[in-house]
Amino acid sequence: MVLADLGKRINTAVNSALSNTQDDYATTVDVMLKTIVTALLESDVNIKLVSKLRNNLRSKLLDSKSGNKSTTNAQTKKLIQKTVFDELCDLVDCKSEHPFQPKKKKTNVIMFVGLQGSGKTTSCTKLAVYYSRRGFKVGLVCADTFRAGAFDQLKQNAIKAHIPFYGSYVDTDPVKVASEGIAKFKKEKFEVIIVDTSGRHHQEEALFQEMVEISAVVNPSQTIMVLDASIGQAAEQQSKAFKESADFGAILLTKMDGHAKGGGAISAVAATNTPIIFIGTGEHIHDLEKFSPKSFISKLLG
Ligand code: GDP
Repeated sequence: MVLADLGKRINTAVNSALSNTQDDYATTVDVMLKTIVTALLESDVNIKLVSKLRNNLRSKLLDSKSGNKSTTNAQTKKLIQKTVFDELCDLVDCKSEHPFQPKKKKTNVIMFVGLQGSGKTTSCTKLAVYYSRRGFKVGLVCADTFRAGAFDQLKQNAIKAHIPFYGSYVDTDPVKVASEGIAKFKKEKFEVIIVDTSGRHHQEEALFQEMVEISAVVNPSQTIMVLDASIGQAAEQQSKAFKESADFGAILLTKMDGHAKGGGAISAVAATNTPIIFIGTGEHIHDLEKFSPKSFISKLLG
């Protein structure tokens, strides 16, 4: 089930619970929870997370009602709406206390990791534009020496976006290219240096080894894993594997404009306890939004 439909299904479940005057409260809650659980599972959210959400919701809804028997219908409706909203927010919010912020007049290196096709190169440029518009001096480094055409792609994007770039057509050592690129931009007092790395179609030991080596040389201020929102259940395992090698501190979720199920991404957040910081909402350089759990869930529920 795609994400937009998930929102609709949850909304319908809540609304029909709100309009149900026939069953007792506990039965109404259980019927609603069943629909929400089915919708989340069909959207590829991990079963353990769904079960935890169900139990939390059930106990919160029943406890708060039993403590206050004289609630009006309007209060009950508000309680159900708010409790469901808060629990869904908790699913995508890992409450990181110190989100990364690049510092002006300092070198901030941001390294991107992810599988091929996830939207890494596109997102590197989008983020470069994002920070450039906020007054940072930004440079892009192409450390993807694995895929033929990777440097050309980054170069074309960078030229279109008016972002300085560094890469090599001849060097095959990504660690060397990455460190040369950083050295060049550092010397020229660039403030945000974004390093695009290579991907593979599948998770491979060689890729993870490469990420460890690049990371050691680049010493990133932040590592971002790019995750295609439509990959479903595979997201959990993939993000765990990248976490071990690249120890990313944030997730950028791409293709949220498409028919993404999105549930896999929600599971990836929980599996790695890492926040989603941006979402990609299209193929153009400005199609990048800051992620906020509350506005994400508000939009989801329409
Ligand atoms: P990479 O192999 O990970 O570097 O992936 P690319 O940056 O080359 O992106 C793969 C494809 O996904 C390209 O066709 C991009 O235009 C497309 N893409 C990337 N991000 C988004 C997004 O947020 N929405 C949509 N619809 N397409 C995207």
